Amino acid sequence: MRLRGKVAIVTGSGSGIGLATAELFACEGARLVIADVDPQLGKCVEVGILERGGDALFVLTDVAREEDVKRMAAATASRYGKVDILVNSAGIAVAGNALQISEEVWEHCMAVNLKGVWLCSKHVIPLMGTEGGGIINIASTHPFRAQSNYFPYAVAKGGLLALSSSLAVDFGPRHIRVNSVCPGFIDTPMNHELLSKLKESPERYEEFLAAHPLRCLGEAEDVAHACVFLASDESRFVTGATLIVDGGRTVYGHFFGDMIPS
Ligand code: NAP
Repeated sequence: MRLRGKVAIVTGSGSGIGLATAELFACEGARLVIADVDPQLGKCVEVGILERGGDALFVLTDVAREEDVKRMAAATASRYGKVDILVNSAGIAVAGNALQISEEVWEHCMAVNLKGVWLCSKHVIPLMGTEGGGIINIASTHPFRAQSNYFPYAVAKGGLLALSSSLAVDFGPRHIRVNSVCPGFIDTPMNHELLSKLKESPERYEEFLAAHPLRCLGEAEDVAHACVFLASDESRFVTGATLIVDGGRTVYGHFFGDMIPS
């Protein structure tokens, strides 16, 4: 077991990538705090892990509210006495270009996707002991490869990469490693509507798959496995890093390849 004895908080672990990460961490021996804004989903994840013989505590948390985050950190300290790993996976997809979105939409996007990560880091880092710990921020490939009509989301995720670098520098001397994972298109509830629209046109769907060198979409578990590596002692010399998990889509300039004479 690669995370035996470690205490891990996973935000947004009621669904998708956070859920897969919390479940995989539990299989690897970690004790979990499930921090999510959805009471039903969060409780269900806690019960599932307990039923499989693991250790988990659900704490209803809106990461955008400092009072909630403080309460979640206090509940973790009271249950486990320390934290080794924080995975910031809570996030929302916010669409619209710079002219379309309102100030409220901008602020909500930044509050959940960026401020929430700062708040969780602020209140969880003091719970990491002298042996240090690890923070894993679930960012996105949007900062590297902009997609139309995802302006506030791309900006928030770009800011998150800067947040990760800054924390890595400030807290490296305390043995706290801070890394970002950038998923590409992953089949989670966040994307279900988009995916079912895409599948209405088999040509469009095939074209989308062809934009990935691996010719497939990612699953939440693909991201969870990357998180296990970054949470485990195997990555003890890795900090300030950005791990892209996207089937190769970000680096792929595939459109003219088959037209170039050999
Ligand atoms: P998901 O299935 O929608 O899961 C996100 C979870 O976070 C949900 O349980 C959601 O609860 C929760 N959440 C939302 N706002 C929250 C808040 N303020 N406080 C606490 N929890 C909150 O989405 P996902 O695909 O797993 O996304 C996880 C992370 O990966 C996000 O940061 C996302 O931006 C990032 N990401 C995803 C993809 C992808 O293709 N799926 C790609 C790149 C990056 P509700 O359902 O009640 O809102």
